[in-house]
Amino acid sequence: MKPIYTSTRSDVKVSPSLAILKGISDDGGLYVPQSFPSVNIEDLKNSDYNQLCFNILSNFLYDIDSSVLMDMIHKAYSKFNVKEVTPISSFDNYNILELFHGPTLAFKDVALSILPYLMMESASIQNVHDEIVILTATSGDTGKAALEGFADVNNSKIIVFYPSEGVSEVQKKQMISQAGSNVYVIGIQGNFDDAQNGVKKIFNDIEFKKYLKGKNIILSSANSINIGRLLPQIVYYFSAYMQLVQQKKIKMNESVNFTVPTGNFGNILAGYYAQKMGLPINKLICASNANNVLYEFFSTGKYDKNRNFIKTISPSMDILISSNFERLIYHISENDYSLVKNLMNGLSSSGSYEVPMNIKSKIDEIFYGGYCDEESTKNTISKVYNSYNYVLDTHTAVAFKVYEDYKAKTGDTRQNVILSTASPYKFTKSVYEAIYGVSNENEYELIKKLAEKCNSVIPDQISDIASRPVLHKDIINPEDMQMYITDMIG
Ligand SMILES: *Cc1c(COP(=O)(O)O)cnc(C)c1O
Repeated sequence: MKPIYTSTRSDVKVSPSLAILKGISDDGGLYVPQSFPSVNIEDLKNSDYNQLCFNILSNFLYDIDSSVLMDMIHKAYSKFNVKEVTPISSFDNYNILELFHGPTLAFKDVALSILPYLMMESASIQNVHDEIVILTATSGDTGKAALEGFADVNNSKIIVFYPSEGVSEVQKKQMISQAGSNVYVIGIQGNFDDAQNGVKKIFNDIEFKKYLKGKNIILSSANSINIGRLLPQIVYYFSAYMQLVQQKKIKMNESVNFTVPTGNFGNILAGYYAQKMGLPINKLICASNANNVLYEFFSTGKYDKNRNFIKTISPSMDILISSNFERLIYHISENDYSLVKNLMNGLSSSGSYEVPMNIKSKIDEIFYGGYCDEESTKNTISKVYNSYNYVLDTHTAVAFKVYEDYKAKTGDTRQNVILSTASPYKFTKSVYEAIYGVSNENEYELIKKLAEKCNSVIPDQISDIASRPVLHKDIINPEDMQMYITDMIG
């Protein structure tokens, strides 16, 4: 059955292409499929990544022509430098799903390599000829992946807001050196939540959108609030499962767990969607860093963002408002948009909300929450390297430790897949220091040293990063984001 798309906060109905084009619903809610197509996993056994992707996306994006969709998939995933796209690396009893072999070395590439194609095709289906301006708030990785995807795409502009002091050196340099005639990269004096709130506010400003429309401009989003970001992420859950079957680690239909380093709850929500489609997932283990709002939610049923924001060595997870959690509550409550709307109003007025007991217990059936502090993150990187010669990035290390805790606590020894969301080279200083101790050398020297000492290869994607010229220097207050856009448009 083909799903109808609606908002988490009302019963508006939209087509897939309109949902992708608009990014967020006018009522402030997020677009969601009302139901999930089911797939027979036996049929997917011999599919390669692109076939798997087509199989899954064509169920959701039924207003895009099949041959156009297939073509997009081929273009998007030819940008990955391994044939499996998202290969599993295994050692001991661990399965690490490497999602970082795309153009910017983070898992965001999986969705953002295809999103620009989906977006431009959606505009054409909707008969929209306005210029599309993509607004993006980033905790470090979405920004670069979106820039790569949208740079020099006709009839579009991309604007990225990043926390000026909240990203790694490599993440920052990747963004501020981005070439392209239609790209804008701006630092925010604030954290990711400030950037994301600013973007959401602009989206909800009907007057401003009217003003833009008068100039033949429409706004859209490359953040995981856009459903077009989430759907391509479902694919690698299936791909991982099939790899485990092929490696004879599991039998077809045997259930597995996935452990996901989580920030905005997009990645793990795609796992939930995979489960709704019939992938045999036992538990989705949600791993937070020291900003453990979600862990607290899983312990108490209360979501409370009134707490200190902690800058960690896994900055892409430094998030207190996990936007996609709204979608989970919608699905778990069986599409109760009034409930979602009330809870989200509570979140914006008091910074917290509590879900009804029956919702909480349904969430607990499939999700498990854990967290890992800074010390344990570093210890995990060093321990895993010394025991298995495998270098984890800081985010993946959070997931690794939470999975260890989960096993110890529950005794659940079924096969588990740890989603590895970034290459360690994106966070070289933190990774290097976790293994070899504090160093006063700069990031770029340490990239070479990490490669030499760990006998690994510097990824091509960043081999020239030190010498790239800086093209974007603006840093602004979060309150001035809208003004910045107005000025830029002229
Ligand atoms: C974005 C990101 C995350 C968090 O993913 P969400 O979908 O926001 O939960 C984790 N690790 C890395 C490296 C990321 O870039």
